[in-house]
This record gives sequence, structure tokens and C-alpha cells, in this order.
Amino acid sequence: MIAEKVLFLVLDGISDRPCEGLDGQTPLAAAETPVLDRLAAEGICGIMDTIAPGIRPGSDTSHLALLGYPPQDYYTGRGPLEAEGTGIHMTAGMIGFRCNFATMDEDGLVTDRRAGRISGTNPLSAAIREGVDLSALGIGFRFESGAGHRAALALIGEDLGDAVSSNDPKGEGISPPPIRACSDDPADARTAQACNEFIRQSAEILAAHPLNEKRLQEGLPPANFLLLRGAGKMGAFPPFQERYGLSGSVISAATLISGIGKVVGLEHIPVPGTTGSVDSDLDAKVRAMLEELRRKDFVLANIKGADEAGHDGDAIQKRDFIEVIDAALEPLLTLSEDTILVICADHSTPCPVRDHSADPVPVVIRGLGVRVDRTARFDEVSCAEGGLHRIRGRDVMPIVLDLINKSHKYGA
Ligand code: ZN
Ligand code: ZN
Repeated sequence: MIAEKVLFLVLDGISDRPCEGLDGQTPLAAAETPVLDRLAAEGICGIMDTIAPGIRPGSDTSHLALLGYPPQDYYTGRGPLEAEGTGIHMTAGMIGFRCNFATMDEDGLVTDRRAGRISGTNPLSAAIREGVDLSALGIGFRFESGAGHRAALALIGEDLGDAVSSNDPKGEGISPPPIRACSDDPADARTAQACNEFIRQSAEILAAHPLNEKRLQEGLPPANFLLLRGAGKMGAFPPFQERYGLSGSVISAATLISGIGKVVGLEHIPVPGTTGSVDSDLDAKVRAMLEELRRKDFVLANIKGADEAGHDGDAIQKRDFIEVIDAALEPLLTLSEDTILVICADHSTPCPVRDHSADPVPVVIRGLGVRVDRTARFDEVSCAEGGLHRIRGRDVMPIVLDLINKSHKYGA
């Protein structure tokens, strides 16, 4: 018997370094994780450099590597991936940006980079789509609201470059700089010009919008200015299904991750109640994974939250949230062996660093055909003794394809 399906579960930023508040243990080692430990005992374990030893991965570059799309060949910045995750269908050549709705005062200073953490900005985005006109420049655009104060922009046209600066002042009480080309290439100058025109026109529309007048009456900061960043040119991604012969879905509340899944052709399955944060409905997410495996050959799922705690430098909160994740994963214990289950992190987010680090992450593969090793604990040190030893992120798909008999023989 050979396994047929794959559940690829990424526990975002779950791995760490020894933490002072935990007697020199990592949050994962300090946590009680009976479910992850049992899966480790039933599988083959190892550690993994998601990109390469010593490289600090972003969540975007590491997920691309894990899916077998090496970021050095495919990564063109966060903007196009966020735009795709926000609901803009990106095609090759479009220039994508991440945007914030922000508040600007009468003196032209940005007073709140998130416009009071506004939500429900769809009417504002609709007014921008309706009113902004870049046709004089020969450029079209797409603009969509994301969660909270977030949004995404894509520019469409010939001869557009992506080497442009941001207008985010990065602080409050500062006047936003204009967007500038970062090279002598006329294509970059054209993009910068289009951005500045888009920002100018959208600010006029936002200032006059009834939703903002209402916010002012209520004493709330109006969302009257857009900050653009993360410019990138959308590339061409060979479709996952053609590449691997597998149908697939992505389950993630983070638009960056769902965007990556979508650009390679995975179907995004939204799960109500999931937030990409520590208050997410993880039971619903795990149910959705198992449900989706009935329809598809491959499911990529991402659980965030532990990453956040790492960025906050809060080792206790991280340990506690890992225990919440572990409890939510209990249904995976009864996952049929003919589904290959991969569990790993996309990078370490050590509390002492408060950012991502290059420390390798633990990984377990469980299912039919796996040579079960003697590791019975899912943590950074125990997994290092497992049978996978030390692999790279780009090795996961080939290993999994071999286990499900979708590999081709190299040679005679
Ligand atoms: Zn991540
Ligand atoms: Zn992170």
C-alpha cells in the first residue's frame, strides 16, 4: 500500500532558541505537547533549513521554498503575493503593493499609520475604484480592501518597473515622502509617477467620503490617506497541479500565505473565525483541513500565533499558545496513514531575537512507507536526532512525492 494524499501543516515561527524565562528551554520544548509528540513518535523526524543554513527566512520566501518554488528564482517582493491574497488576481507583469489606510492632518502630517485600526473599508475602496483614473498615464489598476486597515493595489500597464520607494513615513507626525524610482530605468519612474498620482487622487476621494465625515463626527481618525509599500512585479509560477500532478488547497488566515498558495494555483479555502492570531478558531481550521482532504490530493495549512508571540519576545505566551495548538491538532491522530502528514515550522522566531532567525526548524513526516525513527518528542533538539537528519525546505516536496509514488526515476 502506498499513501496518496498529503497534509502539509506549517506551524508559523514555532521554533525558537533557549529562553531565560523557561530555564533555558525553548517554548516548544517547555510546552506539554502530547499530540505533536505522538505524531513525532509515529513518524520520521529531522531538522530543516527552510532556505539554507544561515539564511533568515521571511514567511513568504520560506513557504515558496517549502512548496518547491525556490525564492531565488520566484520571489519578487511581498506586494504581489499580498495583493493576490487580498483578492486581486495577479497576472505576470502587474506591479503589486501592500497598502495601509492612514490618517493625515491638515498640515499634511501622518498622525495615525493605521487610521485608528479602522475596519470595514470596503465602501472606501469602492469609491477609489470608481473615482481614481490613471488612463492619462496609460495605466489601469485594481484596488481591494484587506483585513482591518490593510488594502492592496496592483498597477497594470506596459513598461512598469517595481524598483520604487514607499511613501510610508514609518512614524507619526511626519509628512509622507513622495514615491521615487530607485534606479535610472524609465519604467521605475513611470511606476513612481503612477503611484503618486494614485495617492493624490485617492486622498481627494477619501477626504470627501461620507464614511470619513461620520468618523470625524464620532471623534475617530479618518482614513483619508494611503500608504504604499512592498512593490514587486508579479512573476510567472508554473502551476502546482501540472508540476506535481496533485490538486491542492491552501488554508491560512494570513493573506500573505493564502496569496502564495493562490499564485501557484492552490484553491484558497476561507475558514470563518480564523484570524491568523492567538485568538483564532483552530478547531474550525483543523476540521477544514480534514474536510478538504476528501476533495483534494494536497492541502497546505498554516497556523500563525506562535510567530506573533516570538515577535513580542513573550516566551511564556508562546509556550502557552503552543499548548493550545497541540490540543487543537488532536483530530490528526486519527488521520489515515494513507495521507502523508508533514508538520514543520517555516522559520524560527526566537523570543530573544524578536524576529525570524536562521536556526533550523523541527520537521516530522508521518504516514505509510515512512521509516519510523526513535524520536518521540517534537522539539528542536529531539528532532535533530531523527532519521531525516538535516534537510532543506526545498527537499520536502521531493521526499513527499516519492512517498506517494509521484516521483520519476532519475536515470535507468
Ligand atoms: Zn512565518
Ligand atoms: Zn514572523
